[in-house]
Order: sequence, then C-alpha cells, then structure tokens
Amino acid sequence: MQLTITNLSKTYSNGVQALRNISLSIPQGMFGLLGPNGAGKSSLIRILATLQEADSGTIFLGETDVLKQKEAVRKILGYLPQEFGLYSKISAESFLDHIAYLKGIIRKKEREETVKALLHKVNLYDARKKNLGTYSGGMKQRFGIAQALIGHPRLIIVDEPTAGLDPTERNRFHNLLSEIGENTIVILSTHIVEDVSHLCSNMAIISRGELLISGQPSQIIDSM
Ligand code: ADP
Ligand code: ADP
Repeated sequence: MQLTITNLSKTYSNGVQALRNISLSIPQGMFGLLGPNGAGKSSLIRILATLQEADSGTIFLGETDVLKQKEAVRKILGYLPQEFGLYSKISAESFLDHIAYLKGIIRKKEREETVKALLHKVNLYDARKKNLGTYSGGMKQRFGIAQALIGHPRLIIVDEPTAGLDPTERNRFHNLLSEIGENTIVILSTHIVEDVSHLCSNMAIISRGELLISGQPSQIIDSM
C-alpha cells in the first residue's frame, strides 16, 4: 500500500497559504516529514488525519480516497497528535478498552485480547492499572502509540513525538516506531534532522507550504 498526495493546497481564512500544490508519494516504512515551524507540517497532517479540509488536490491511501471517504480512512488510520490529551483519572487499560470500542471492536473478549497485546507491545502491561495522570512523559508517548495501533491501521501519523523525553525513553520510542514501520506506513513529523536520518527510509522537506525535496535521507541529508 502507498499514500499518494497530488497537488494538495490549503489556504486558511486569514489568507495564510499553508500548503502550496504538494505532490508526494509515501511508501510503506518510516517516512520523515521535516520542516521548520510554520512550514505546513501540521496542516498536512490534520488533512491526512481527516481532521481538516483541503482546498484542492487528492490523497489516496491505496484505493481509498482520503478526502472523500473519511469514515473508511478513520478505520485504517492511527494518529498520535502532538499534544496528546490524557484523561488523568482513568487507567491505561480502561482507556484503551474505550478506544477499541469506539473503533468498532464490539466483543468484550476481543477487546481484552487486543488491549493486552498492545500493552505488552509498548511495555506498559505492568502499569496497566495505573491512572494515566501518573505516567511519565515517555510512558504517555508509548501509551499514545498503543492507542494509535488499535484496529491494525495501515497508516500511522506521529506528530513531533519526542519533545521532553530523556534519551532512554526516546530510544524506546524510536525502536517501537521502527518495528511498526516494518509493515505499515508511518509518517513522522519533526524538525529534528537526526531523527529522520536515523529512523526513516524516505523523507520530504517542506518549507512555507512548499515541497522542497523528497527522497532517501542518505541522499538528501548527507548532501546538506
Ligand atoms: P479554516 O480556514 O480551516 O476554517 P480557521 O481559520 O477557521 O480554519 O481556523 C481554525 C482554528 O485554528 C481556529 O480555532 C483558529 O483559532 C485556529 N487558528 C487561527 N489562526 C491560527 C494560526 N495562525 N495558527 C494556528 N492556529 C490558528
Ligand atoms: P508546522 O506544523 O510546520 O509548524 P502549520 O501547518 O501549523 O505548520 O502552519 C503553517 C502556516 O499556517 C503557519 O503560517 C500557521 O501560522 C498557519 N496556520 C496554521 N493553522 C492555521 C489556522 N487554523 N488558521 C490560520 N492559519 C493557520
């Protein structure tokens, strides 16, 4: 499966042209979306995540028309927003159970199995009964990945994920992303060049709403 963006543009009502005619193909694996603040990364991500309308252009995730078939996209999309708001007074386990239900896993037994497997995957099984409010920054990020993974998404979008994490937690988080990238499209939006060069097999740089370059980090970053 591939994500194909063609001639995508977005201008806000205040006249800011956040995206100018972006065309980009994103294959399976880890994809780095790099750009300074204000480049248009969040606008692109919100449109991909069906949270915002584009003005023109098309986006296809495999055969699915992302701009038109929003319900279908939401079933195959996992999204980890930058500011992942957590309800502090609910346990990790209950929260995941709720999300699994919202994503259409109706049978309790199936939800329990899904939630258990995900908690193990992100190494939070032992902390499953703790309230999310007691989680450290790194635990919250790993929890964010667990919730994004519910329902076997084909596309996972991660927005500026490692701000404020210590090196150990960053490593854990990166390893987890790499593992997921083995059979999913993972878009990592960041302004940290090293993260893209270490983790991603493909990348793009956007600036002032325009695509500057796309390709493999080894070709792009080494020539910078
Ligand atoms: P749209 O053109 O997609 O309808 P709006 O201009 O109505 O978007 O703004 C949507 C939301 O984004 C509003 O809540 C607004 O307060 C907020 N917003 C407005 N300007 C900015 C900005 N420069 N950067 C980030 N968010 C903004
Ligand atoms: P990035 O995520 O790369 O920082 P954004 O997509 O948030 O970039 O912003 C791109 C441009 O669009 C910026 O100039 C920003 O101020 C503007 N912008 C973002 N969201 C809104 C909004 N809702 N309404 C108006 N302008 C916005």
